[in-house]
Amino acid sequence: MALKADARIVIVGCGIAGIAAAHRLHKAGFHHVRILEATERSGGRIKTGRLGNTMIEIGAAYIHGPSEKNPVFCLARDYNLLEPKTLTPENQAVNVGEYPPLVPNWFSSSGQKLSAESMEPALELFHELIENTPSSKNHKQRSWPSVGDFIRSEVRRRAAKRWNEKDKNTRKLLLGAIDTMLKEECCASATHSMDTLDLVGFSMYENIEGVDCTFPRGFEGLINSLMSELPPDIVTYNRPVRCVHWNNTKGGGNPVMIECENKEIIAADHVIVTVSLGCLKKHHSTLFSPPLPSQKLLSISKLGFGTCDKIHVEFESPWWDAECEIIYLLWEDEEKVSDEMKDISKHWIRKVSSFNVLKHSESSSHVLCGWISGYEAEYMETLPEEEIKRSITELIHTFTGDHTITPRRVECTQWFHDPWTLGSYSHPAIGCSLQDLKNLMEPLPKRGTQPQVLFAGEATHPCYYSTVHGALLTGWREADRLISHYYSCSPFSSDETRQE
Ligand SMILES: Cc1cc2nc3c(=O)[nH]c(=O)nc-3n(C[C@H](O)[C@H](O)[C@H](O)COP(=O)(O)OP(=O)(O)OC[C@H]3O[C@@H](n4cnc5c(N)ncnc54)[C@H](O)[C@@H]3O)c2cc1C
Repeated sequence: MALKADARIVIVGCGIAGIAAAHRLHKAGFHHVRILEATERSGGRIKTGRLGNTMIEIGAAYIHGPSEKNPVFCLARDYNLLEPKTLTPENQAVNVGEYPPLVPNWFSSSGQKLSAESMEPALELFHELIENTPSSKNHKQRSWPSVGDFIRSEVRRRAAKRWNEKDKNTRKLLLGAIDTMLKEECCASATHSMDTLDLVGFSMYENIEGVDCTFPRGFEGLINSLMSELPPDIVTYNRPVRCVHWNNTKGGGNPVMIECENKEIIAADHVIVTVSLGCLKKHHSTLFSPPLPSQKLLSISKLGFGTCDKIHVEFESPWWDAECEIIYLLWEDEEKVSDEMKDISKHWIRKVSSFNVLKHSESSSHVLCGWISGYEAEYMETLPEEEIKRSITELIHTFTGDHTITPRRVECTQWFHDPWTLGSYSHPAIGCSLQDLKNLMEPLPKRGTQPQVLFAGEATHPCYYSTVHGALLTGWREADRLISHYYSCSPFSSDETRQE
């Protein structure tokens, strides 16, 4: 058995999961760690950019649950990357479900500004349902397979009781507001429709305490801080991996051979694969030889991976209230409690249900971040920028009734068409369960003494999937798997094994 310092470990992908694994292994004394990254940069789905003078997050923006339990928060605090307000114990103690919602401005498709108070019953009902979805297979009946089914049925039942004294028009608006919330929730889960999310699977996700916060100088600051503590030559950029040849038992050499697109072959004892679930879905048959076991393949196909894109829009001056944090758009002709569009090429823009107001102290410009998910987002990515700008301008004219408002700049993300991500993040699609996440994260070979192929990345975390902290923890988890493998195998103490 090789001493741990000699073990050759290759990490595929230099997103937060790959960086976290490399960091942990490097600190534990492994000297032969190498990251192969397909693109020219580190960070993967953490990517900070600019729109004019304003910093924008093209990928992850928020630390979800910034408190002690969240490793991203702890690292960001230690690297001094957060605002003082975020660090206060009060901020960390807040239970997300009980926190007052963002200050909204509501606009309707007839060009009216609606009062926030009048829309409150819809927000209240929606949050009540989304935060209390049944978490057990024993819920009343399996007649609600999806989150969408559950919400639709419960909205109809509860609205009939609660809103029956309201006039017809108010009831219509409140149901329209539920549609808006459903579309917004599709973005949170990167799904086309809430009808594709498993109702029981949905409750696997766990919230962490703390009010979501951003990085005032960009999320990429975290990547740069972590990278600065690794050897400068640890990453080879522009080096896509074509195939991981594993179970190579002939000749007693290294059990893993990593074949790159440029035909380079790298021998390793272990490989940690951190590519997105989208990449695994599309490329598993060429990415692994021998092929992945059927159980893992089944789970890869069952787990969901979808698109959530952002549309950043810059304005000369704000058309929303000074204290407004989020703008909601309510289509008056939508009251069917649905989040799907009929004719996507004609109606894709209807899936844009909300805009966050970006508040940056360093910038004098006024930027909104719009959200779109699913097939509508994927369709939008195919359109020329000018056409998207025209559609966004029309949308704002329709909802404000003010035809003089003209966006200065519009920029959209394109996560579905990014060949190294092929979507945004994972979700529990109908029919999948915790067992599928366990199958996905299980190393190969299944019954070997030595883990050869290990799996990390956002989609392999059992309760923090889809997040940066989830991805980071999976990198640490797989590094720890190797560390404990060598500790349990080595006849030497940890101090002795640290010396080469
Ligand atoms: C629009 C958007 C908004 C988000 N918002 C948030 C948020 O606010 N908060 C939050 O916590 N999370 C958010 N997320 C999710 C978060 O960004 C991800 O969960 C996390 O960054 C994933 O990290 P990862 O290391 O698992 O994968 P990635 O970051 O995708 O890293 C994988 C790396 O592998 C590389 N790669 C792929 N194939 C190959 C190959 N064949 N050979 C070599 N390299 C390869 C890729 O180029 C990439 O660099 C958001 C994501 C998106 C897209």
